[in-house]
Amino acid sequence: RNLKKYFDVTGGILSRKVGEVKAVDDVSFSVYEGEVLGIVGESGCGKSTTGKTLLRLTEPTEGEVIFDGKDITKLTDEEMRKMRRDMQIIFQDPYASLNPRHKIEKILGEPLLVHGIGDKEERRKKVKEILEIVGLPGDHASRYPHQFSGGQRQRIGIARALIVNPRLIVCDEPVSALDVSIQSQILNLMEDLQEKFKLTYLFIAHDLSVVKHISHRIGVMYLGRMVELTSNEELYDNPLHPYTKSLLSAVPNPDPDVKQERIILQGDVPSPSNPPSGCAFHTRCPDCMDICKTVRPEFQEISDSHFVACHLYEVNENN
Ligand code: SF4
Ligand code: MG
Repeated sequence: RNLKKYFDVTGGILSRKVGEVKAVDDVSFSVYEGEVLGIVGESGCGKSTTGKTLLRLTEPTEGEVIFDGKDITKLTDEEMRKMRRDMQIIFQDPYASLNPRHKIEKILGEPLLVHGIGDKEERRKKVKEILEIVGLPGDHASRYPHQFSGGQRQRIGIARALIVNPRLIVCDEPVSALDVSIQSQILNLMEDLQEKFKLTYLFIAHDLSVVKHISHRIGVMYLGRMVELTSNEELYDNPLHPYTKSLLSAVPNPDPDVKQERIILQGDVPSPSNPPSGCAFHTRCPDCMDICKTVRPEFQEISDSHFVACHLYEVNENN
């Protein structure tokens, strides 16, 4: 709720603070138990920072993160350490996130050890089991990360998140670094695991086509703000925010009868350290009006479970 994460920008010989990047700027949303909430947006829009802030892998500047009725931003380190068992993350780059000097049994046994789960023998058994669950042979536990392909390494990343039996997993672009040919295998695996273990995912991607199949609802971010959030079907059938419309127009439609007009946005994404006034999208919006340049649109529920931040859809208080 009202989540903010600002980073200081420093400069000069004395590294003085010269500015601020509002990586996440007043974002509020819910993630329901058992759902996959997709979050999309261009790089630098704050989606990864949002995911990391939810797990307190980076501390929020302001706002609340409520899990099971508790604001976890208020927990002590020790309480947070226990809570981490319920909240895991899968990183984008399986190459960088696995220690190359450790065998898989150590990499996967570590979270069990940290949370005091099982004795040595039980942990070994669990590692073998989890490898098989993610589609790798159990006896590969004695291998090193470099002995696996990129897709296999991401399976290990998934196994590491899954082994402590979490309830929420933040999936931070889990297939972006993989060859296109194996992306769908990993997506299918993640979808199966979500259903099988009744997991909740916050699934981050820069590409709408990646979140389409796996997400129940989708949120669209632009320059640190959530601009639209609704169900998967509604977003594709009835996108409201001009930015969402432009993103959707870039997704190829397999139906040859659907005439698709590509909306090309003017200009680049503005710098997050100096975002435009009013609606942050106004410098690129094809529908920009005068009010957009000065007044920031509220993120509002404009029809049943369809949220949007845009002056075109402002709810009139007097209605
Ligand atoms: Fe475009 Fe204005 Fe809506 Fe922003 S508020 S998306 S500038 S129409
Ligand atoms: Mg990212």
